Amino acid sequence: MSTGTINVSVENIFPLIKKFLYSDHEIFLRELISNATDATLKLKHLANIGEANDVPIDNPMIEVKVNKEAKTLHIIDQGIGMTKEEVEKYINDIAFSGAEEFLAKYKDKNGDDAGIIGHFGLGFYSAFMVASKVEIITKSFKDKPAAHWSCDGSPKYTLEEADKKEHGTEIILHIMEDETEFLEESRIRELLVKYNKFMPIPIKFGTKTEELPKPEDAKEDDPAPTKEVDNIVNNPNPAWTKQPTDLEDKDYKEFYRELYPMQFEEPLFHIHLNVDYPFNLTGILYFPKMTSDMSVQKDRIQLYQNQVFVTDNVEGIVPEFLTMLRGVIDSPDIPLNVSRSYLQADGAVKKISSYITRKVADKLKSLFNESREDFEKKWDDIKVVIEYGMLTEDKFFEKAQKFALYPTVDGEYLTYEELEEKIKPNQTDKDDKLVILYASNKEEQHSYIQDAKEKGYEVLLLDSPIVSHLLQKLESEKENISFARVDSDPVETLIKKEDSNVSKLSEEETEELKTFLDETISKERFTIQMEAMDSNANPFVITEPEFMRRMKEMQRTGGGGGMFGMGNMPEMYNLIVNTNHPLVGEILSTKTKKKKERLVNQALDLARLSKGLLKGEEMTQFIKRSYEMIK
Ligand code: ADP
Repeated sequence: MSTGTINVSVENIFPLIKKFLYSDHEIFLRELISNATDATLKLKHLANIGEANDVPIDNPMIEVKVNKEAKTLHIIDQGIGMTKEEVEKYINDIAFSGAEEFLAKYKDKNGDDAGIIGHFGLGFYSAFMVASKVEIITKSFKDKPAAHWSCDGSPKYTLEEADKKEHGTEIILHIMEDETEFLEESRIRELLVKYNKFMPIPIKFGTKTEELPKPEDAKEDDPAPTKEVDNIVNNPNPAWTKQPTDLEDKDYKEFYRELYPMQFEEPLFHIHLNVDYPFNLTGILYFPKMTSDMSVQKDRIQLYQNQVFVTDNVEGIVPEFLTMLRGVIDSPDIPLNVSRSYLQADGAVKKISSYITRKVADKLKSLFNESREDFEKKWDDIKVVIEYGMLTEDKFFEKAQKFALYPTVDGEYLTYEELEEKIKPNQTDKDDKLVILYASNKEEQHSYIQDAKEKGYEVLLLDSPIVSHLLQKLESEKENISFARVDSDPVETLIKKEDSNVSKLSEEETEELKTFLDETISKERFTIQMEAMDSNANPFVITEPEFMRRMKEMQRTGGGGGMFGMGNMPEMYNLIVNTNHPLVGEILSTKTKKKKERLVNQALDLARLSKGLLKGEEMTQFIKRSYEMIK
């Protein structure tokens, strides 16, 4: 037996290890299983190239065992193992200096970075976060005696020969008093599922009972025979590691279920990512049905490195608009030992992010081209992602011109190009500007939509929460267009044409009526505007000017663009009075003030009713007055 002192400059690194990664103790298991996986893959590789011919390596697995009485946790592999000399070299010198260097580099970092640094393990020495003593019993695949290394958390260790017969390594952790959660089977199972669910070597954790088929002569109520089999916790060949050509639609759906067992809704479609130059990346992204409450999105994209789970916070790696998607990304090229802000500036990560954006855009385009009908059906479920992408990524905005859809209130889905062509003749105003009309709610804006349709205008239905931002963007990107909600102006002036109507009222009459209305109607709530419109159009119409309303909406939905402080301002309404309507003429000619007021209030209430503004006491008054009028 030999004893020694691990080469240290830091007097005692173990308390530091424990302290530093305090919140992330659990990663020790992932680190040790990664080592066991590497050791097994190395041996497989050597066998493949004929350098480990006599070594039995059929279906190697990794076993994790808990011994509650002895308070130990065991991680056993059938990999290449180490000779005594290799333990000296890899564990005492190299691994230790790695841990030391890591700590020296990061021990001063504050909370912000700790999360992601936690993902970058300390390798073997992370075991000391939870163990007061660690043993390694290992036998190299080479014909050498086995070795037994033991270290109790001080820099002193012992190293002696052991009599292990099979090649491979067993790591024994003597779990500390205050870390006994890691002796609970349920806790270990939880960790194995979290970090190792898709690791490439089968991981055994206990056994399970499996039912066997009944023998032919068995009676009806004979219990089926059972047997104990290894309980393998992982799927070593997850879908994303396979070639797209080897997978069918149902395989992708099955994998989705495997990733998110609590998710019962089927994904809308998937995108298989697969590139090896200039960076390495595989993965599968899924478009889920979007719920309107995106803040409760807890099934997120998971990031892996060589099938080892790293995090489900992919912010900075995936463009923000795509973080609404689900699925897996696996790349060894994403640096994890850095902070988020550094990550966003990293060249490789930028390339990855734009690759993903491009792939998503290409997929959407091909879905659109292959089956437009199907794409239209999915539009309402995917539009938020697409619209958000158009708003935030210029490249995506460009590509989306080919597949972004603009649905009309009648359920027709048009691309921008189609829309433009369709409405150009009728919806170009006198300044040659194309005016695109839209509604945000078919029910609430029904009468306005109706008026616009009667004029032969096309009305879009744009109801996403971020639509005001998108319209702003479209207006600045496209030439000479503007969007106007159907209730932003009376239909006569929504699209300003040359020909204006002649007013039936003289200037004096109009002035007289205006004065009366100003006295009768609350100025705080309505700005009154006299307008000579078609005599068939409604006498009173309430509108909400586009600019102010949009600014307020933008402010409310955030993301900049809105004007500061406008979100809380009261709504601004215009009351448009159609001087050509017979009722308006009647109001003017009515002699008694009381009768006149009654007509005005009734007409105003009807206008408010059609804008959805009549509520509460005012609604009660209106109903009462209406009954009296028909009595
Ligand atoms: P890293 O895995 O990043 O190299 P570690 O501290 O985890 O750092 O491990 C140091 C070295 O010890 C490994 O590179 C490997 O050579 C050796 N090692 C660790 N665990 C095992 C194992 N289970 N089987 C064989 N060798 C191992």
